[in-house]
Amino acid sequence: MFDYLIVGAGFAGSVLAERLAVGSNKKVLLIDKRPHIAGNAYDYYNEDGILIHKYGPHIFHTNSKDVFEYLSRFTKWRQYQHRVLACVDGQLVPIPINLNTINQLYGLNLNSSQVDDFLKSMAEPVEKVRTSEDVVVGKVGRELYEKFFRGYTLKQWGLDPSELDASVTSRVPTRTNRDDRYFTDSYQAMPLHGYTRMFENMLDHPNISIMLNTDYREVKDFIPYKEMIYSGPIDEFFDYRFGKLPYRSLEFKFETHDVPLYQSAPVINYPNDYLYTRVTEFKYLTGQEHRKTSIVYEYPQAEGDPYYPVPRPENAELYKQYQALVEDLKTVHFVGRLATYKYYNMDQVTAQALTTYARITGTSRAESLR
Ligand code: FAD
Ligand code: UDP
Repeated sequence: MFDYLIVGAGFAGSVLAERLAVGSNKKVLLIDKRPHIAGNAYDYYNEDGILIHKYGPHIFHTNSKDVFEYLSRFTKWRQYQHRVLACVDGQLVPIPINLNTINQLYGLNLNSSQVDDFLKSMAEPVEKVRTSEDVVVGKVGRELYEKFFRGYTLKQWGLDPSELDASVTSRVPTRTNRDDRYFTDSYQAMPLHGYTRMFENMLDHPNISIMLNTDYREVKDFIPYKEMIYSGPIDEFFDYRFGKLPYRSLEFKFETHDVPLYQSAPVINYPNDYLYTRVTEFKYLTGQEHRKTSIVYEYPQAEGDPYYPVPRPENAELYKQYQALVEDLKTVHFVGRLATYKYYNMDQVTAQALTTYARITGTSRAESLR
């Protein structure tokens, strides 16, 4: 008899498997329908021996000391500060928009306070910031919004920014200094030997059994267990009773080139051209030395593997209907990006899993980390 059947071997399921097994001596069965652990963070060496991320670029960053220290039990790190360029008006300029972006784009030589005035003069007054359009137009005005955000968002989500919650474009700040880093979190690093290795270390315990290539629906009636932790899509769990929750998908196109470096930045965003949104070159992220290099193009799709919950009011309403069903299920715990329909980064899912562990075992956060 397993104490827990855990569905999904991504951050949500694996952190809970580790904590329950190691912290509470519970016997867990972790299953995933994919042929590997690590969920969307899965990485592997391709046929040319280059470490790539199967489900698109994953860059770890967090402000949470707890989360960073917890994950540090399973990996050493490579310090890495992420930088992105956007292809706009035929130039490659830094995004998030900063002092250098404005100077380069408009051929100016402004200082910080002048660029602040410049952006204020471009910004449109927005009474109440509700949508992803409001966020950007209210800060930098319509012209820069059109150049950097509208087309990218239309491609990525199949929706106009005015149809998405403010939280989506709020992920990308605006700066008046020269800081061109994509993130400013206090911890920014990549697992030294990759995500999959980190997950292998996390799950290496006699209390943890793993079954891959297995949809939980095929086995749940045959495997004896006391409680379930579910990290798949919540609407699927309830057989789409209230209708489908939209999840945005992507298609990834990988290429390997016989040159040591292919592009001038780790990621280049293409807000206005092509069907893809961005191109990532993995060697920048991983620090791997290799004579060849691999890149990935991301093509957004409506159908396919669920990757992104779509933050907008009608979806939040539909999610609430499903969430109400969760409250009646005392022995099933929903955790993770798909099961709680939250546009969470890896560190946020880790924090959510640690909080779930503390809740179901009745321990404090400090105790739960022991
Ligand atoms: P997942 O990793 O999706 O794991 C859920 C698992 O459940 C999957 O492996 C799935 O196969 C399994 N499953 C589902 N249904 C079933 C079933 N019926 N039976 C069995 N198994 C099932 N975050 C960052 O912090 N930094 C980044 O740079 C970053 N980049 C990203 C880029 C892309 C393209 C995407 C899509 C996401 C990115 N993220 C990033 C977010 C990150 O992937 C998630 O926060 C994290 O992977 C969520 O973990 P999870 O365990 O909730 O879900
Ligand atoms: N975004 C944009 N232009 C950019 C970068 C981001 O319009 O050059 C918008 C877009 O809607 C995107 C969101 O901001 O989905 C969040 O960007 P982020 O880079 O955080 O996306 P993720 O890495 O999660 O796909």
